[in-house]
Amino acid sequence: MSAEDRYLELVPLAALDALDGDDAVEFRRHLPTCQACRAELEAFERASARIGVDVARVAPPPDLRQRMLAAVGAPVAQPPAARRPPAFPWLGTLAAAAALVLGVGLLATRHQLQRERARAQTLAAEAERAQREVVDLQQLTRLAGLQPAPGARARVIWNPATREAVLIASGLQAPPPGKAYEVWVIGEAKQPAPAGVFEPAADGTALVHLPRVEETARPRTFAVTLEPAAGSAAPTGEMVLAGAVS
Ligand SMILES: [Zn+2]
Repeated sequence: MSAEDRYLELVPLAALDALDGDDAVEFRRHLPTCQACRAELEAFERASARIGVDVARVAPPPDLRQRMLAAVGAPVAQPPAARRPPAFPWLGTLAAAAALVLGVGLLATRHQLQRERARAQTLAAEAERAQREVVDLQQLTRLAGLQPAPGARARVIWNPATREAVLIASGLQAPPPGKAYEVWVIGEAKQPAPAGVFEPAADGTALVHLPRVEETARPRTFAVTLEPAAGSAAPTGEMVLAGAVS
């Protein structure tokens, strides 16, 4: 394995903040010098953020301390009586204990590293699959400003499977007193379904999470009208934005 391959293999662990010891030191030193590893690290960090993974810092296994203590306290075999006892028997015992402690520690670290590595790979695969599903399911419809608001623009990003939808608009004027903008989803029934009332921000933009309405499963048109501030059950005011689903 080349040195670069080894660094790339450490990237998923670095993204999970799970590197320690020499690996962490070497990786930190290498990162500013290597575009490939930085790009890979960014991708992994995005991947874990995307699926909301909150990976705690890797802690040593909880039983490690017990195992180390047990190793130190373990009875050490006595030399056969026929042989001359060593001058410093405690030295041999301590050395054996130290070797055991070191050995257990190294094994634990190595095992942990392998486990975290496997976990990071699983997470990355899951994130990729989730991302693919989101891309497959989300649709985008553009809405154009009509005569009352020719400068207005909007997009609706919607998911027919979950009926979730978000409207992002710009170029909207503040509605007259007592009025608000209302969103409509028009499906096959032709009867527009009310999908939320909103007021744009001072800069004319709006980001509205629309309530889930059944029409979002198979919408034909998204529209925005000016309505009484409490909202209407069916559109009564001027249509400000509209977009047909292609
Ligand atoms: Zn690198």
